[in-house]
Amino acid sequence: MTYLCYCAGSILVTHDDHLPSGSRPPMPLQPWQVVTTIQDFRGNDCQVVRLSTPATDIQGYTMMELRHTFGRLSPQEYRLAGKGAELLYWDASTRYCGLCGSPTRWQTSISKQCTQCGKEMWPSPSVAIIVRVTRGQEILLVRARNFRGSHYGLVAGFVETGETLEESVHRELWEETRICIRHLRYFGSQPWPFPFGMMVGFTAEYESGTLQLQQSELSHGGWFTADHLPPIPDKASIARRLIDDWTDSLKSPHSHP
Ligand SMILES: [Zn+2]
Repeated sequence: MTYLCYCAGSILVTHDDHLPSGSRPPMPLQPWQVVTTIQDFRGNDCQVVRLSTPATDIQGYTMMELRHTFGRLSPQEYRLAGKGAELLYWDASTRYCGLCGSPTRWQTSISKQCTQCGKEMWPSPSVAIIVRVTRGQEILLVRARNFRGSHYGLVAGFVETGETLEESVHRELWEETRICIRHLRYFGSQPWPFPFGMMVGFTAEYESGTLQLQQSELSHGGWFTADHLPPIPDKASIARRLIDDWTDSLKSPHSHP
């Protein structure tokens, strides 16, 4: 059994950077603290546990902010920790049925059902697009007003109801920067458990337009070359993967400037 023990955005990890596991939990647990039991990538059971106070005094363990476990936990354990955190958030936000207001109960390890009307509920993360736009040897980087710290990132935004992912990319770019793109390509996706999202990454080339930042959302932005990049997002993010992929491609002997 693996134990995914959360308290206020932090998770319990061992001092040698693993998730707690074994036949007994790292601390005594009440049944109501175990929100659900999911399976890891090997099919082993993992209890998702809500702690009422941080477990800071258990020898061999430490509480760590979920985001800081990236690069410390293995990629599989990091993803598992994110999944548990999303389920915990989803559990807290679906205590009552959205249709009739009655209490819900867990139906499977990853779904719930209304105790009165029977409505089934499955976790559905908020989907956002993120796009890397390049122009020759330059990349478009922007600084969102809601970014913590001083780093720059890529244009991103939530997908609206009724639009395709591609339409969402074009719309966000137009709203935030007034530029048009071509050669839009899918890059990859990444669950983003802060608190409950799915990032869908794209690449594109600049086509036309003069950069005009949307002042309400962006404080700075511009075209940057690889040797003069501002501070960029940390390695946990798909934004960083997109940027690193671009700088790597510039070093490759097969790249065409
Ligand atoms: Zn209901």
